Amino acid sequence: MMERRAFLGGSAAALATSALRGKSGAAAPAAPVTIDPASRLTQGGWMRGKVQSGVRALALGGKALPFAPDGSFIAAFDRDAGATHALSLTMADGRSVIRELAIAPRAWQIEHINVARKPGGVTDEDYLRLRQAELARIGAARSRETAAEGWRQDFIRPAPGRFSGRFGAQRIYRGEPAAYHSGLDIAGGAGTVYVAPADGLVILAAADKPFSLEGHLLMLDHGMGLNSAFLHSSALLVKEGDTVRRGDPLGRIGSTGRATGPHLHWSVKWREARLDPLLLLGSAGGEGTG
Ligand SMILES: [Zn+2]
Repeated sequence: MMERRAFLGGSAAALATSALRGKSGAAAPAAPVTIDPASRLTQGGWMRGKVQSGVRALALGGKALPFAPDGSFIAAFDRDAGATHALSLTMADGRSVIRELAIAPRAWQIEHINVARKPGGVTDEDYLRLRQAELARIGAARSRETAAEGWRQDFIRPAPGRFSGRFGAQRIYRGEPAAYHSGLDIAGGAGTVYVAPADGLVILAAADKPFSLEGHLLMLDHGMGLNSAFLHSSALLVKEGDTVRRGDPLGRIGSTGRATGPHLHWSVKWREARLDPLLLLGSAGGEGTG
């Protein structure tokens, strides 16, 4: 992991440093935070860790980062995350400790197209009203906080099949960038059942009427700000409010909404950060039919 430790200036931090190193500079007592070595400290990646009992509060990049009663937490890094993030801990006695995290950049798949970008879709008022309502439902679902604990788990592939579209890929039309691809496309074949990559609660199931772009959209909350969305389903096998376990069937792969062919588009967000689903799969997520 490209990770470095730095305990930054100020007397509080200096105190923390001496406390961590031990007065004699010999065997250091346990650090107040441990980072899971499986974490992916890179753009589109994630981090899991645990704080010791002496930690009162945790913040990442200046924003409060909640942790579970056992001290465990998750955080993640957007596709366009900056090179460093400060993880700051406030100890029970008021001291603060800052750990600088280096976030490795990624080389995204960028395609330069020598034609002008097509003018953006329909601007018909009925469509805009419909789209606004759809986006409001998605926003409301994402803002829900649930007690799901899938965020603690290693994720599994939701479906077998070739990866037909990578997270972060972007086309640039004569210098004008289009939106990057926000998920991982899996060409699993029409009708193939896809499953929950981790435990979760169904926070949105567009079962009756497909959304204009996402089609029969399914969203799963994994807790602690982490959620998955599955697009273009031909059928949904769960409903809003259902609790699912990792591996439970969720729906069938289709091409509803805006899709050129049957595939599962799986996207993952942590708070406002868009993540690369592939990085959640670890070594088991490599290329292949899984
Ligand atoms: Zn896609």
